[in-house]
Amino acid sequence: MMDASHVPDRFDQLRTRKPLFWINDAQRLSTDDPLTDAVAAAEERMLAARELLCELFPQVRQSSNPLRSPLIPITKFPESIGWAPNAGRWLVKADHMLPVAGSIKARGGFHEVIVFAERLARENGILNADNSLISLAGRDARGLFSQYSIVTGSTGNLGLSIGLMSAVLGFKAVVHMSSDAKAWKKERLRSSGVQVIEHSGDYALAVESGRQLAEADPYAHFVDDERSMDLFAGYAAAAIELQSQLCDEGIVVDADHPLCVYIPCGVGGAPGGITYGLKRLFGPNAHCFFAEPVASPCMLVQLLSGDTVTSVYDVGLDNKTEADGLAVAQASMLVAPLMQSRLSGIYTVHDEQLYWLLAKASQTEGIDVEPSAAAAFAGPLALTTSEEGRSFLQGRSLADATHIVWTTGGSLVPEQERQNYLMKGPPRLMPWE
Ligand SMILES: *Cc1c(COP(=O)(O)O)cnc(C)c1O
Repeated sequence: MMDASHVPDRFDQLRTRKPLFWINDAQRLSTDDPLTDAVAAAEERMLAARELLCELFPQVRQSSNPLRSPLIPITKFPESIGWAPNAGRWLVKADHMLPVAGSIKARGGFHEVIVFAERLARENGILNADNSLISLAGRDARGLFSQYSIVTGSTGNLGLSIGLMSAVLGFKAVVHMSSDAKAWKKERLRSSGVQVIEHSGDYALAVESGRQLAEADPYAHFVDDERSMDLFAGYAAAAIELQSQLCDEGIVVDADHPLCVYIPCGVGGAPGGITYGLKRLFGPNAHCFFAEPVASPCMLVQLLSGDTVTSVYDVGLDNKTEADGLAVAQASMLVAPLMQSRLSGIYTVHDEQLYWLLAKASQTEGIDVEPSAAAAFAGPLALTTSEEGRSFLQGRSLADATHIVWTTGGSLVPEQERQNYLMKGPPRLMPWE
């Protein structure tokens, strides 16, 4: 199905570190849906956890659903970059505002910790079939959980999500961090009682260290960002949330009204889960595009390589980017095969563009995100101005399209850090070509 003769050309192109747009020619209508039950169970569990989360985190008591993020229509940002109004409307799916964890990692991460806590509580007779999850916040559960540790490896945000959720339930929480993790994320975890172990290597090394330590300890659960089904299902549950919000906004999705979704991609779990969920609900009417840094396009490299496990180092890139959430050299091999038939494409951005987009989103919309999340804002323009994007659009009308910019993180960024980010984004034209 894949035409392998173009792969070396593509790798040469990636090595130039110029932003590019890639259309996935292997995309097809999937009839297989191997994870239906897992995703449906996650949707249900996350609804059932509402009361528990409100109990655990006083700051979310006001919100009707602490695991739901707003869907915000925007016009000023698109206008400011010269977006033609007849090329479709923009909305921001504001996961940067998800409470407590401040990023998309709240979805998968909270889900997995709750699954593990629920299982332990059931095995130990603390939770019965008809108990609500609120018992997980009770004294008996706490006593039980204090004997266990939850371990993960992360570039930052997964650590925040898993660490904060584990600690509040009474688990010992241990996060292995890569050298590129931001200092303020480590600080934040330590001040919440989470043990942070720093590694001089990259993200994959941090994950591997955590995995090995946890595997040797029967009282440790390892949250595996590269392989976890519970994380993936938690992310996939976001699709039904978006569907209901679109419905509330009166926005139709069908063959004449396509949905184009732009999501930053690291190891692939979060954007992959969401893509999986959206394709289940909307089939060919949803087009999902991932954004990756020019230095770390790991999902693109993996999709071009088929079954051969290939990292960005293998093609001569260095995986060095300010987008810490996306600084991943090797895509998840759980997720990549699922994307082969479902993903519409991937575009790459360089760090300078990220800061430009970050500053622009702040100035025009008052939306403050972290560099990784800013990558999503480039999507609609990348699709409509790049040569490959335009050929994808041939014969399709965008007039009634809905573009969803998925802002994956940012509300926990400290003010000083935010100011530093803003100063790096000089207002100049997008260096697209
Ligand atoms: C983790 C992360 C992503 C990407 O999620 P993956 O599951 O690693 O692909 C995107 N944006 C931010 C802010 C993140 O923290």
